[in-house]
Amino acid sequence: MTAPHTLLSARTQAMSESATLAMAKKARELAAQGVQVINLSLGEPDFQTPKHICEAAKKAIDEGYTKYPPVAGYADLRQAIAEKFARENQIHCEAKHIVVSTGAKQSLANLFLALVDEGDEVVIFAPYWVSYVEMVRMAGGTPVILESDLESGFKVSPDQLAQALSPRTKAVLYSSPSNPTGAVYSRSELEALAQVLEAHPQVLVIADEIYEHITFGERPFSMAAIPSMAERVATVNGLSKGFSMTGWRLGYMAAPAWLAEACEKIQGQITSGASSITQRAALAALQEDLTATYAMRDAYLRRRDLVISLCNAIEGIKTYVPDGAFYLFPEVDAFFGRRAGTYHIQNADDLCMYLLHEAHVSLVSGGAFGAPKCLRISFAASDEQIREAFARIARALAQLQ
Ligand code: PMP
Ligand code: GLU
Repeated sequence: MTAPHTLLSARTQAMSESATLAMAKKARELAAQGVQVINLSLGEPDFQTPKHICEAAKKAIDEGYTKYPPVAGYADLRQAIAEKFARENQIHCEAKHIVVSTGAKQSLANLFLALVDEGDEVVIFAPYWVSYVEMVRMAGGTPVILESDLESGFKVSPDQLAQALSPRTKAVLYSSPSNPTGAVYSRSELEALAQVLEAHPQVLVIADEIYEHITFGERPFSMAAIPSMAERVATVNGLSKGFSMTGWRLGYMAAPAWLAEACEKIQGQITSGASSITQRAALAALQEDLTATYAMRDAYLRRRDLVISLCNAIEGIKTYVPDGAFYLFPEVDAFFGRRAGTYHIQNADDLCMYLLHEAHVSLVSGGAFGAPKCLRISFAASDEQIREAFARIARALAQLQ
């Protein structure tokens, strides 16, 4: 990147670029030069959006849904989302608790802007999704990171949470199923964390459940379904992952009414809400059955097992079995310190760059997720792409001495 312009705010200068989007950009640039890059960096479903959802969008245009929508979302969509939360997540809320946004990213940004003052702490479970830390900092907050690793199943313990909470803590933030690890907190694990939070009634929980439909075991449980937590959780979700609708930009959340109103106010000044056409498509997505979603999930499950077996065939890559999402986040520190030609691999960033330039496979370094021993491999790609990527990765890693 070029040096920052002096007119840029300190806030912007301090911000890192999104590592996931940056790797995807690098892969696109190489591809434009004619290099056959396999992109396993971006967390983006490789399926088309289900047809009935596309048809609903076309119908919305024909019916004239082309004007500013209400900032928090159309009334019937907010109602449908409240019903979805009750039906699928045992979260009992009303339309007034729902705010529709231009992606889960927007919902999260709204929440941090609504909650965080300069110096407030937000406790974040690591490994964390890249944008959490930057968004909290953008709002003036201080991220407090709780580490976890492969041995602990990439899960934070109640003791860790208890030690991290302080009078300055405003919120606790995690994703489950997790990006980047695929870990899914069980009901009893969430209940144990909730018990710790009982002694800290001023702390709000932000639960990012955007991968809820991509799970390979039991249905994931929601912290907001615990009766004592119902008034203290903002549940964030969206259509990007489960419905393969990344480009449509549709997120939503259920939150206590005071917080939903604050997010609506912020959104009213910044975006005026989500696209009218996308909102009509979202209504179709949420009201139809989940056949298409489950078919995609089944494909991810098959690919997960394929990626694990391909990783296990390479000495030095330490794997585990993710319960959800479409990422594997193996430890790769066995390769640190090795060399090939002019390359000296000192960390996961170096390994990622080496694999991009020598194997033409783009992955994301664990450093950006707060786990510098790991790499993130997205398996939202075809079996053929995955097999070819691993043939190349194995060859390139074998060169490292
Ligand atoms: N949260 C997590 C954990 C994610 O992986 C993503 C991926 N984009 C988002 C939020 C944002 O999703 P979107 O803005 O596309 O709804
Ligand atoms: N969430 C996806 C990822 O982690 C998409 C890119 C992004 O929004 O960061 O790759």
